[in-house]
Amino acid sequence: MGVGGPARFFVEAADEATVVEAARWAEARSLPLRVLGGGSNIVVADDGVEALVVHVALRGVSSRDAGGAVEVTAAAGEPWDPLVERAVVGGWAGLECLSGIPGLVGATPMQNVGAYGQEVSQTVTAVRVLDRRSGAIATLPAADCGFGYRTSRFKSGEADRFIVLAVTYRLVPDGAPTIRYADLEKDLAARGISRPSLRDVRTSVLAIRRSKSMVLDPADDNRRSCGSFFLNPIVDATRLAEVERAAGDASVPRWPEAGGRTKLSAAWLIERAGFRRGEGPGPVTLSSRHSLAIVCHDGARAADVTAFAAEIRARVEARFGVRLVLEPVLWGRRPGEL
Ligand SMILES: Cc1cc2nc3c(=O)[nH]c(=O)nc-3n(C[C@H](O)[C@H](O)[C@H](O)COP(=O)(O)OP(=O)(O)OC[C@H]3O[C@@H](n4cnc5c(N)ncnc54)[C@H](O)[C@@H]3O)c2cc1C
Repeated sequence: MGVGGPARFFVEAADEATVVEAARWAEARSLPLRVLGGGSNIVVADDGVEALVVHVALRGVSSRDAGGAVEVTAAAGEPWDPLVERAVVGGWAGLECLSGIPGLVGATPMQNVGAYGQEVSQTVTAVRVLDRRSGAIATLPAADCGFGYRTSRFKSGEADRFIVLAVTYRLVPDGAPTIRYADLEKDLAARGISRPSLRDVRTSVLAIRRSKSMVLDPADDNRRSCGSFFLNPIVDATRLAEVERAAGDASVPRWPEAGGRTKLSAAWLIERAGFRRGEGPGPVTLSSRHSLAIVCHDGARAADVTAFAAEIRARVEARFGVRLVLEPVLWGRRPGEL
C-alpha cells in the first residue's frame, strides 16, 4: 500500500540459520518478531513497528515424482507467481487459478491463498517451519495446518508461533485445469476455447485479474492496495434472512457453505451500504474496479486506510448486522476503531 513507518530492527534472512538466529535474538530481548514476505497483505502503522522484522529471503525450488504426482518444494522466499508459471509450463495442474497473486511462497499457507476456484490447501502436502515455541525446525503435514477459508493455524490458531521456511505442493502431471468459476468459464468461452489447457486458464485468470486491478501493475491507478480488504462473511440462516430483509431484496448474492451456512459477497454488502467504486475520503478510496479493495493515492497514510476501513465496517454492520473481518494483517499501533 506504500504507507507506514520503519521497523525498529530489520534482518534479511537468506538462509535457515539466519531465521533461527533472528528468532533467538528477538527472544533473548523479549522483542516481538514479525515475518515479512512480499508485504502485499500487510498494513504497517504510520509510526512503524516496535519489533524485529525478519524478511524471509530463502530461495530454491525442487521437484520430485511421487507416485504419479509431482511434488514441488519451494523455499518461503520464492516469488509466488513465477512458481505458478513454472507449474503451468511443466504441465502440472493444481496452481493455475492462483496465477497473478502477489507475494511469496511462505505466505501462501498463512491465509490459505485462494482465487478462481482453487486454494493452496488443495495441493499443499507439507509445510516446513521453524517452531518458535520449541526452537526446532519441523515439517507439518497439511492435516496439521488447520486450513479454512482464508485462514489456517498459522494465521488464527497459533499466529506468531511458526515461521514458514518452505512449502510442498502436490501437483498432477498432464492434469486438467480447474474451471469452477463463472467469470473464468465466460472468459474462456469468449476466447473460443472449449478444451482449455493450463496455459489458457492462466492467461484468462491474469486477464480477469488485470481487469479488476488485482495484479501488481505499476501503470494502474489502483495499484496501491492489498487486494481484498475484507473477507466474504459466512452467516447462518437467521442472519441471511436479516440481510435479505435489510436489503429489501431476496436476490442477495450467495454461495452455499458447509453446515447450512452461506457465504455472502462483502463487495455487494459494501456497495449496498452506500460506498461507490473510486470514491472515498481523499487520499484513500475504494478501487475504481473492485469495491473490496482500498487504494492509497498520493499523501495517503496508514491512519487514512484504517479509518476508512473502520467506516466501511461500521456502515455495513449498521445496515446489515454483519461485522466484516479484515483480510490484511495490521502491524504496529492500531487506531481504536479497528
Ligand atoms: C493486488 C492484490 C491481489 C491479491 N489477490 C489475492 C487473491 O486473489 N487471493 C488471496 O488469497 N490473496 C490475495 N492477495 C493477498 C496477498 O497477495 C496474499 O495474501 C499473499 O500470499 C501475501 O504474500 P506476501 O509474501 O506479500 O505476504 P506478506 O504481506 O509479507 O505477509 C502476510 C502475512 O503472512 C505472514 N508471513 C509472510 N511470510 C511468512 C513466512 N515465511 N512465515 C510466517 N509468516 C509469514 C506475515 O507475517 C503476514 O502476517 C492479493 C494482494 C494484492 C496486493
